[in-house]
Amino acid sequence: MVINAMERIMKDLLDEYKNRLQLSCTCDECLDDILALTLNKTHPRYVTDSDKIMYVKAEFVDKQNMTSLFVKLAECAKIVSDKPTCKMTTKGE
Ligand SMILES: [Zn+2]
Repeated sequence: MVINAMERIMKDLLDEYKNRLQLSCTCDECLDDILALTLNKTHPRYVTDSDKIMYVKAEFVDKQNMTSLFVKLAECAKIVSDKPTCKMTTKGE
């Protein structure tokens, strides 16, 4: 089994901060868009076991590393928020 540890870490980060990111839409589709966009800009960190995600996560306990992840997340949240492509926001146009 191969898992991108960043996927889990970014998802946790997004769940934690989505209320502070001033998102124009918080549906699952938009959150997935933000996550996908962020992960495309983030160097993947593959692990072979979900238990090993915590070791990768431990590296980001360092404030500066965590801040750089958060900056990426906030950037991508803004891109998606400016132009949401989900059904909820395009309906009726
Ligand atoms: Zn949406």
